[in-house]
Amino acid sequence: MAPPRSPRGRARLAHERLTEEYPEARCELDHHDAFELLVATILSAQTTDVRVNLVTPALFARYPTAADLAAAEPEELEQLILPTGFFRNKTRSLIGMAGALVERYDGAVPGAMDDLVSLPGVGRKTANVVRSVALGLPGLPVDTHVTRLSRLLGLTVEIDAVKIERDLNGLVPAAKRGEFSLRLILHGRRVCVARRPRCGDCVLNDFCPSSVVRPNRPRAPRSRSNCANAPDGTGTS
Ligand code: SF4
Repeated sequence: MAPPRSPRGRARLAHERLTEEYPEARCELDHHDAFELLVATILSAQTTDVRVNLVTPALFARYPTAADLAAAEPEELEQLILPTGFFRNKTRSLIGMAGALVERYDGAVPGAMDDLVSLPGVGRKTANVVRSVALGLPGLPVDTHVTRLSRLLGLTVEIDAVKIERDLNGLVPAAKRGEFSLRLILHGRRVCVARRPRCGDCVLNDFCPSSVVRPNRPRAPRSRSNCANAPDGTGTS
């Protein structure tokens, strides 16, 4: 079969192949509800999901609701989240975010993008994680892996995350956007790694425009990874 020539065709085939490769794509930040995921995603900036998951059990036990977190003593909160780095900024964001939830949304996490990004410490990437993973709404988080892979696969030429999200939203059905992002992230962590993409091991190498293995080669044999919790430096996002 001829390789797809359009970005839409490549996006569709990439998602088909990556769904076979990573059937259980899931967010690797531990959480029970939208509030916990929002907290965990804010904490995941500039650190790994693994490190966030180490601190959140005690954090969620100490501050189970937005009202509890809004009333937190900054020094105590800083100590709890210290291992995630940037703990002073993150403390300000968490307390500010929780206060805004209490004041404007009766302590609940809103679903609308405009409402989410109005919260302190919450950008589009975090908002899209919460929407797609916890709220069942369309959302395509664009992190460093999604940026790199979507450019390598010829799905966008943009470098700005908002423009990349716009381009990908035009290629991926709304209901599939969250899982598409999760699978690109997994593939970026395990195969299409930043410094030296492993094109020879990649299930997309027969149609990826950036593949460094020869064209017309047979599709690479599948080698499903069993690493469900590979860390990286970007958090879920
Ligand atoms: S073929 Fe190479 S560049 Fe393209 S997605 Fe796979 S690993 Fe990345």
